[in-house]
Amino acid sequence: MAGEDTRLKGLLGGQAAGKLAKHRGIETVGQLLDFWPRRYRSAEADLGQPRIGDFLVAVARVEMARTRSMKSRRGRMLEATITDGRSRMRVTFFDARGHERKLVAGQEFLFAGSVTEYRGERQLAHPGYATLEEAAALGELGERDHHGLIPIYRHVPGVHPWTITRCVRLVLGQLDEVTDAIPGTVRTRRDLLERAAALRAVHAPRTTADVDAGRRRLRYEEALVLQCLLGQRRIAASMVATRGRQQREGGLLSAFDERLPFELTEGQQRVSGEILDELARSTPMHRLLQGEVGSGKTVVALRAMLAAIDAGGQAVLLAPTEVLAAQHEASITAMLGDLAEGGMLGGDEHATRVALLTGSMSTARRREAMLEIASGDAGIVIGTHALLEDKVTFADLALAVVDEQHRFGVEQRDALRAKGTTPPHLLVMTATPIPRTVAMTVFGDMETSTLRELPRGRAPISTHLVPTGRPGWVDRTWQRVAEEVAAGRQAYVVCPRIGEEEGEGRHDFEEGLDLVAEEGVVDDEQDDGERVEDGPAQERPLAGVVETIDVLREHPALQGLTIEMLHGRMPPEDKDTVMARYSAGQIDVLVSTTVIEVGVDVPNASTMVILDADRFGVSQLHQLRGRVGRGGDPGICLLVTATETDSAMERLTAVAGTTDGFELARLDLTQRREGDVLGSAQHGARTHLQHLSVLRDEDLIEAAREDAGELLDADPDLGDHPALRDRIADWLDAERAAYLEKG
Ligand code: ADP
Ligand code: MG
Repeated sequence: MAGEDTRLKGLLGGQAAGKLAKHRGIETVGQLLDFWPRRYRSAEADLGQPRIGDFLVAVARVEMARTRSMKSRRGRMLEATITDGRSRMRVTFFDARGHERKLVAGQEFLFAGSVTEYRGERQLAHPGYATLEEAAALGELGERDHHGLIPIYRHVPGVHPWTITRCVRLVLGQLDEVTDAIPGTVRTRRDLLERAAALRAVHAPRTTADVDAGRRRLRYEEALVLQCLLGQRRIAASMVATRGRQQREGGLLSAFDERLPFELTEGQQRVSGEILDELARSTPMHRLLQGEVGSGKTVVALRAMLAAIDAGGQAVLLAPTEVLAAQHEASITAMLGDLAEGGMLGGDEHATRVALLTGSMSTARRREAMLEIASGDAGIVIGTHALLEDKVTFADLALAVVDEQHRFGVEQRDALRAKGTTPPHLLVMTATPIPRTVAMTVFGDMETSTLRELPRGRAPISTHLVPTGRPGWVDRTWQRVAEEVAAGRQAYVVCPRIGEEEGEGRHDFEEGLDLVAEEGVVDDEQDDGERVEDGPAQERPLAGVVETIDVLREHPALQGLTIEMLHGRMPPEDKDTVMARYSAGQIDVLVSTTVIEVGVDVPNASTMVILDADRFGVSQLHQLRGRVGRGGDPGICLLVTATETDSAMERLTAVAGTTDGFELARLDLTQRREGDVLGSAQHGARTHLQHLSVLRDEDLIEAAREDAGELLDADPDLGDHPALRDRIADWLDAERAAYLEKG
């Protein structure tokens, strides 16, 4: 008898166990049972249905079978024709031995194998087959009266599909005690199968309803374990003590509010209120602020930072790129005006100082900044990863704000938190809207605030597709850019690559570039198919900044315009200069990589041209587009593409069709593989969902969250639910292991 921890090695044949371990990492009974069939076939499949490449499982009668010797090899081969009464298929064994006596005309078997092509016809080469008695004994046929289903497992090299089925059946038969992590009360309330029954339903179903019920139960378990784990994390976080930073009237924040040239939107006021309240509490804030591109998150964060300073502490703003850090410093200093001139002649009495620290600063400037940070003279500290280094110390870090968090990992957040004498409050901002279920799973240990509306007076952005195949459309694009510039506005042109330089190698892509092809969003097979058709187009290199700028400077429509470039390989001073000149309106067209993707804010920029737009992900296009339409003028975004693939067109059409970031985020999720979304795309959370899908299983996740809350309220340690507690521990172990692997 076996439990889920039992190792397969002693249980199965050594060969099968070895292959399962080697190719799929399956070593225990539990892991084998976690290997769900990919799909199910009814045993009565029609022989005429499957196409070349399909895996066929069907009952059929041998119509004709003969052996013959081969010219090129020794031995005899067996050729047969099988039929289900309606259709026929050819069956071949290159070595007839062992088969010729069984496969005789008139006999019925269950056949299983991949359909291949032979001289333009479909055939089964070396299929597995079993007599109906054998198949029934294996459960292959289910109970035929009930139209039993045949599970089809993912291919394991060197193991016949039936062997897997056989192993699973064997294991299911041996299984004695299956501990159930879902408490009985919850099972009853949610109408869930017991675990053992669910495993049987998934691996040996009679009906599709069985499959559904089994899967639902097992997915629910996954959701419950995760929600309990997150709930326990929240409880642990709520026990951490820090200093509450009480808001103070008549301080820096009040002075800032008086100077604010616009009114805060309702959303900004509400969220600001939430944050200031939380800052005053003696448990560290752990909040995610999500808001549409351009919804004004920076002001909200700045107000929180000023409140922290009023309370005697410091605040740090961490940005993902140097460009963005510099831009934040410039805009925050500008917004603060004399409030940023602490200790200087003419500074306001409440004034503080803003320090910038990035990796590329000269040693002298960096040392100066570090001094201001350590002494506490700088109330606001802005910078990149460089801030996380050990030598950077704060006098009293009260609040850490992480901007555009999808580029930051958990480790960086932890490093930031370690900088406070007491744990700092943490505010994480993202412009990539996160669907509710993802917020509940990946960010389940954070509170979330959402800014949905944009400040009043924002002009709409219109987005259009520009297929390069249409004559004249690309030229029209550049004319459009020229018209906008003639009207006093500015444009961005974004390329997926930096471009050729002497002897430049592969490191051509901007760090963090979310290239679609690299993410495997494009379906491999489909992509291959397309490649054959438009071979020449595929050889055309992707647009690079360096080449594009030459083309544009030569272009008749753009004569007399100031066209400059910006990319990650430029020296930092040059980047700063270009950005400053663009902000000041001295550059008409900025050709760049995705360095401008996040946060860059130049209200006079009205036009965004994205070259090879199909190479970018949905969220990324949405982000890029958010760089325009920030002033009073309508923004326009032109997606230039040579693609003709359906999936790419679907993405681009969706981006062109809506500016609702939440809708696009959802689409993005469906197009990426789930693991990517949870694993790297958001913030490096190592949440490894196995059978649960944040999209499909929204209801389950929500129900599980509710149940987890109740269970933990009554019993925070889950001492009364040891099985559940064990599952949580397993999960944490797996997380830890994945973390170590990542390095
Ligand atoms: P994001 O949320 O994308 O980071 P920002 O914080 O960069 O957006 O804000 C975008 C622009 O909107 C900035 O120029 C900012 O000054 C401006 N802004 C923010 N809040 C308001 C408001 N309530 N009314 C008008 N303009 C605002
Ligand atoms: Mg921003």
